[in-house]
Amino acid sequence: MKVTVWNENCHEKTDPRVLELYPGGLHAYLASVLECDDIEVRTATLDDEECGLTQAVVDDTDVMVWWGHMAHHKVPDEIVDRVHKAVLGGMGLVVLHSGHHSKIFRKLCGTTCNLKWRDGARERIWTVKPNHPIAAGVDETFVLDPEEMYGEPFDIPNPEDIIFMGWFNGGEVFRSGCTFTRGNGRIFYFQPGHETNKSFQNENVQKVIKNAVRWACPVKKNLEIPCPHFKALEE
Ligand code: ZN
Repeated sequence: MKVTVWNENCHEKTDPRVLELYPGGLHAYLASVLECDDIEVRTATLDDEECGLTQAVVDDTDVMVWWGHMAHHKVPDEIVDRVHKAVLGGMGLVVLHSGHHSKIFRKLCGTTCNLKWRDGARERIWTVKPNHPIAAGVDETFVLDPEEMYGEPFDIPNPEDIIFMGWFNGGEVFRSGCTFTRGNGRIFYFQPGHETNKSFQNENVQKVIKNAVRWACPVKKNLEIPCPHFKALEE
């Protein structure tokens, strides 16, 4: 399986806490979490030509992992269209944390993806669909402290499955782990992962992301369903 981890790589340049937690940047850290015998991981960032998402790279990707926050607007629309087309054709997409406001996630959802937010909260996540493949081996409940509060209402279309629910110590709740299908592509959104928190070091969080990548991996990619006039096969 070939995974491309995309990260805007911007906070890393201005906030030393990010590189302290995630040496090499979020993309490098997530790549090291995912890399294993049957998963080949490459990374791509805004700094790379075409955001590192050339047609060749996208064509060679089974599942893309997306982390963005302050530079969503810097991703050119043509790159977003390219990734969008790939998802409709079967490529999997795992959107992390503030990727909720990325152009690609909004385009796939068709909604604002707005939510409430406040940094520095304590979060308790509950696994509410324990038999889903993305929940395999994940604890029934676990705590991330601190994590950024993301609160409902979350302006997304109805997910196909809600696998994780988050509760925050301000009283807020959130659909923290949701699945969608668009065209032939599987999409998973997962809320933890603020850049200055150590959530990506959490064993349960890592398990969820690894499971999600496997779940989102397509049987076939680049599927195009045409719209032909069609002659009857039978009299
Ligand atoms: Zn954040």
